[in-house]
Amino acid sequence: MAKRKLILDTTESMSRIGFRHGFKLLSRFYKEYAHSLRGKLLGIWCLHVLFAAGLVVPPYLVKEVIDRGIATKNISLIWSLAGAIMGTFVLVAVVDKIRSFWGHILAQRIAYNLRNDLYSHLQRMSFKFYDNTSTGELLSRMVDDLSVVQDVLYHGPQNIIGNGCMLLFAGILIFTLNWKLALASLAVLPAIFLIDYRIFLTMFKSARKVRKAMALFAGRIEENFSGMRIIQSFVREKHEMRRFERENRQHYQSRIGVIRSMSWIFPASISILGVSLAIALGYGSFQVVAGVMTVGTLTAFVMYLQRFMSPMVELSRMGESVVRFLAGIERYFEYMDNHPDVKDSSKAVGIADTKGEIQFEEVWFRYDKDTVLKGINFLVHPGETLALVGPSGSGKTTITRLIPRFYEPYRGRVLLDGKNIADLKLHPLRSQIGMVMQNDFLFSENLLNNIAYGRLDSSEEEIMEAARKANVHGFAQELPQAYDTEIGERGVKLSEGQAQRISIARAILRDPPILILDEATSSVDSETEILIQEALDRLKEGKTCIVIAHRLSTVLRADRILFIENGQVIEEGNHQQLLERGGRYAHFYNLQFNNLD
Ligand code: ADP
Repeated sequence: MAKRKLILDTTESMSRIGFRHGFKLLSRFYKEYAHSLRGKLLGIWCLHVLFAAGLVVPPYLVKEVIDRGIATKNISLIWSLAGAIMGTFVLVAVVDKIRSFWGHILAQRIAYNLRNDLYSHLQRMSFKFYDNTSTGELLSRMVDDLSVVQDVLYHGPQNIIGNGCMLLFAGILIFTLNWKLALASLAVLPAIFLIDYRIFLTMFKSARKVRKAMALFAGRIEENFSGMRIIQSFVREKHEMRRFERENRQHYQSRIGVIRSMSWIFPASISILGVSLAIALGYGSFQVVAGVMTVGTLTAFVMYLQRFMSPMVELSRMGESVVRFLAGIERYFEYMDNHPDVKDSSKAVGIADTKGEIQFEEVWFRYDKDTVLKGINFLVHPGETLALVGPSGSGKTTITRLIPRFYEPYRGRVLLDGKNIADLKLHPLRSQIGMVMQNDFLFSENLLNNIAYGRLDSSEEEIMEAARKANVHGFAQELPQAYDTEIGERGVKLSEGQAQRISIARAILRDPPILILDEATSSVDSETEILIQEALDRLKEGKTCIVIAHRLSTVLRADRILFIENGQVIEEGNHQQLLERGGRYAHFYNLQFNNLD
């Protein structure tokens, strides 16, 4: 008894949350994505009505053939009615062709808008969002969820309007033909409603689980393929196979819930249809024998009854698609409602050319719970080079990420030329800053386009010039198709030193007044090192530069060094001053740099 009560509770709450929520989702979807196409949609929906209307004509013509044509042996009437049946089917076929073509085009159009909007929205999301969302999940929402939505966008209205009208027309006709027989045959209807209702509710719950499991699974697939080189080099294939298998199983099991519910729909409905037809034929034949009804009317009645019941089955099956559609748009709006946490404030102003003075004023920052920067203060004058030095995890990269506002401090201010960057527009601010980070992202395009990414409107000569300055030109000449050579996904076909020089070339082309450099920690051969150093020197000329330093040569050249430890500036000065002080920097220097350069 207790268990039964529990099931009822779940079902009741599902119906409350499920239907109201589903309706809300649908009306929001209509308002945002379908309203502007309402004229065209209405046209297609009228064609669905016409299609259903066309299909209810033939049984009436069959009745006429039997009752008037055959009964009176009127051959010409029989032929004309047969011709009319054929004509009706041709008309129905033409209507179907038009509705199917334009209906699919409209569905594609809406899905195209959905994808564009989602992509444009996701592009504005901050680093924090991407820290917490896997690429696989994003892919699953962009591709998988939206293809379900697109599919149902056409088949949903086609099924609901087409079958709904068929249900209505056939219902009216069976009652018109013989209302007593209609009432007797449809006595089983409540059973269909009850069964479908229960199945629908369980399916909605399962469909949500499927969407979630699918996103997790897609995340695993993406991560494993991206990390296949690591998997193979650590010989972790078996371990990964086990993890993959576990998530694949979860994905498979989540689908079973939907399949289990769905597999009941057809058998339940078809059995009920069987009962209904048996009643119609039994009771109907009795009426024909009694002379109350003609054979033609009984034949038409049975045909209409089938046309009445089969849309019921189709509509129940449609429940599954509607449920998947709702789960898809629910997840879509979940993303769209997730607003970027770094954006232009209402009073944000643009900036043109900056002098390049950067100041941190009592800056505190945390990614999650732990505070990573604890009251950072410093000032970099225009044209100065500031080196950040300190143990790994001390907060150096985090400091550089606050300057382009990839993240925002929870206390304190970052100033550019004396203006709080929180009051500046994001795009102009970021245009003033060039970043050359370790393992910068390269696109799976050719070399030329990868450099041109620094400034999209640059001419080929400018790109070549940047490539020369960044010492890219030498190795580019040796590649099979020089600058047209495809460099593979994320630049896998290049060496680390080559990839670094491409990102320097990009920054040279961009020519921003402020530069943020993260020196590579892994060592390259000394010849490459010289080439990179030369490229960097050309890039840094006349610019304000903040560099996360890992090399002695860099700290020696820096105007000033900040020694960062545990999110705080512990010491500040140039290399000589800091060495003479004999503090934390001097200790770190002896461990880290002394024997390296
Ligand atoms: P450094 O550049 O000095 O090696 P970071 O600035 O990269 O140090 O990291 C400082 C601290 O912040 C570390 O404890 C690191 O684990 C943490 N951290 C870095 N990036 C993130 C992130 N995206 N989300 C959460 N914590 C992070």
